[in-house]
Amino acid sequence: MAHYEKFESALIHGGVYGDKFTGAVNVPIYQTSTFEQEGLGQHKGWEYARTGNPTRHAVETLIAELEQGKAGFAFSSGMASITAVLSLFQSGDRIIISKNVYGGTFRVLDKIFRNFGISYAFEDTTDLNSLKERLTEDVKAILIESPANPLLTVTDIAGIATIAKEKGILTIVDNTFMTPYLQRPLELGADIVVHSATKYLGGHSDLIAGLVVVNTEELAERLGFIQNATGGILAPFDSFLLVRGIKTLGVRMDRHVENAFNVAKYLRNHEGVKKVYYPGFADAQGYEINQKQAKNGGAMISFELKEKYNINKFFSSLRLIALAESLGGVESLVCHPSTMTHASIPEEKRQEIGISDALIRLSIGIEGIEDLILDLEQAIAESEG
Ligand SMILES: *Cc1c(COP(=O)(O)O)cnc(C)c1O
Repeated sequence: MAHYEKFESALIHGGVYGDKFTGAVNVPIYQTSTFEQEGLGQHKGWEYARTGNPTRHAVETLIAELEQGKAGFAFSSGMASITAVLSLFQSGDRIIISKNVYGGTFRVLDKIFRNFGISYAFEDTTDLNSLKERLTEDVKAILIESPANPLLTVTDIAGIATIAKEKGILTIVDNTFMTPYLQRPLELGADIVVHSATKYLGGHSDLIAGLVVVNTEELAERLGFIQNATGGILAPFDSFLLVRGIKTLGVRMDRHVENAFNVAKYLRNHEGVKKVYYPGFADAQGYEINQKQAKNGGAMISFELKEKYNINKFFSSLRLIALAESLGGVESLVCHPSTMTHASIPEEKRQEIGISDALIRLSIGIEGIEDLILDLEQAIAESEG
């Protein structure tokens, strides 16, 4: 029985705590590929490290506890975890994805799984009624992100899960942008949660990792089989780093969100800014739903500058905020979705889903808020044409 009740304590004491052999307060890095067996069929629970490694097991049990699922699985990247989840399906199956899904998720479906006869369709998952009509017999899962990348569109997770259950199909939620500290999809009725743990869970931009959590023993068994059979596992050292990152998730997220709210307000009041996308604003799309299903609006912001501003100049003028792919680290990052994270989506499709060439995405870090605002201020001023 756990000696704590609060989520903040689970971040630090959850999963496997410390090392029972030495009393070390951290789970050691078991840098080994195999485990000696005492006799045929007699082992201590560990055989070969693709199948299971104690350091990886620590992060897997931790994420399962945090997401309130039956079992967790750690992979070498977010895409490896999404690939493992998509390996649950077979030729003839169709998967619905939300329109603003991560570019890599679209790419793996379009360029790899489609070759194996698994089809996909982009749908507006914010409109539950029209979505219901699109659930043909071959649809076997709905894969969503909320808020979704990069327009921070909010989808009603419980609403999707209800429709999916009626049809006997799976709800898969990519919870990368929120983390279990802000939103727990399995509690809202989803079946599977995936993470790019590269982002907030790792939190320090020093690691590539992915996690999956499932809500039934049956899915746990199938995912465990896929993980062992395909082998895209997280290494022991990276598992250790991820556990280390997760311990401070609560305090980091609080600061990320506080900073993001202030930056979003600053941008909205700036006369050079055309539009700000931030789910923490009371007039944002899906605000009420987000408030119901998540603790707050998170720390990602997208915005567009007015036409007279030169976007290239804006990016090159930033001094503190780094122009880089990725998000969720302690340092603030900026990116240009149409040429970076979403470049794998054809231009026509990008325009259709609203990812304009003027769109700028910010991952707000935990620096001093004054420095972030000063940097944005001088870069916007520099880019005025
Ligand atoms: C980054 C990201 C991924 C892919 O994760 P990797 O760790 O880069 O493989 C998937 N989904 C979302 C929402 C992401 O931001």
